[in-house]
Amino acid sequence: MKATGAFGAIAALLCLLVLPFPSYSQATPQRAIAITIDDLPAGSANAMTGTEILEMTTKLLGTLREQKIPVVGFVNEQKLYKTGEVDQRIKALSLWLDYGFELGNHTFAHTSLNRVTLQAWEEEVIRGETVTRMLLEQHKMKLRYLRHPYLDAGRDLKTRREAEEFLSSRGYQVAPVTMDAWDWMYGGVYEDARKRGDAALQQQLVSSYLEYTTTVFDYYEKLSRDLFGYEPKQVLLLHGNWLEADHIGELLELLRKRGYQFVSLADALSDVAYSVPDEYVGEGTGWLDHWSITRGHIPLGEPSFPQWVIDKSREIHRQAAAAPAPATK
Ligand SMILES: [Zn+2]
Repeated sequence: MKATGAFGAIAALLCLLVLPFPSYSQATPQRAIAITIDDLPAGSANAMTGTEILEMTTKLLGTLREQKIPVVGFVNEQKLYKTGEVDQRIKALSLWLDYGFELGNHTFAHTSLNRVTLQAWEEEVIRGETVTRMLLEQHKMKLRYLRHPYLDAGRDLKTRREAEEFLSSRGYQVAPVTMDAWDWMYGGVYEDARKRGDAALQQQLVSSYLEYTTTVFDYYEKLSRDLFGYEPKQVLLLHGNWLEADHIGELLELLRKRGYQFVSLADALSDVAYSVPDEYVGEGTGWLDHWSITRGHIPLGEPSFPQWVIDKSREIHRQAAAAPAPATK
């Protein structure tokens, strides 16, 4: 059908005037992100039984597999060694590979490169390879990624470059991070609330976590555009904890609504952004900050983390330190 006459002309004009705007505002941008999950088998593995770690892992990986999300998990093998539980803990790691995910090294004992000598750190990397490499080999896969604990990539440029050379000589690619909403901080408070059956606090934490994630993404997507003129494929840092096991579906939904597609870490790292100069040294932070600081721009206006969650976390740690050691656990 074709509109004719004055009415048609006006209608056509209105379309020209009106249509482009809603279509722009409603268009979902094409974005891509790789999901990475650190501190495996679990952030608070030392306070969990092997059975609980298996239960948490099964729930987390169930959602990720169902939604076909490619994920690399990063392991601290020290957490495997608890008397009588080693098999169960290794089984939890195995599940990652059985479900079709990948594992990388996060050093044996979660050691910061900024706090020990380079040699001591390199030993931690090597020590962290044993079980993970064996499991990967069983699945015909290779150990190829390293994630720096605390994102500490070196306190000076010499250390940073020497560490990178060492890593590449052992076949590693560094796994950078560009998006981080501190789920480990929420996770500790959430797990405490979960243990006590405080459902109201759990819900409050989940809402705050998703809200803070939105703020972090708003901020770093803009920083991306300011730096590169486009948004590179991002890499999100999450942690193995009950908060993610229970709620990662909501997080994935939030990201989908922002126009994100989930890609493998290898795909994300093929973005040219990851080969721009990076001379950042100092306290661990995300790679968008690295690139910005390397160019001489100190990023300002970073979203501030909700103080009440920090306070709750401190309170839990204070209580734990004051409590008498449990006889068995
Ligand atoms: Zn970590």
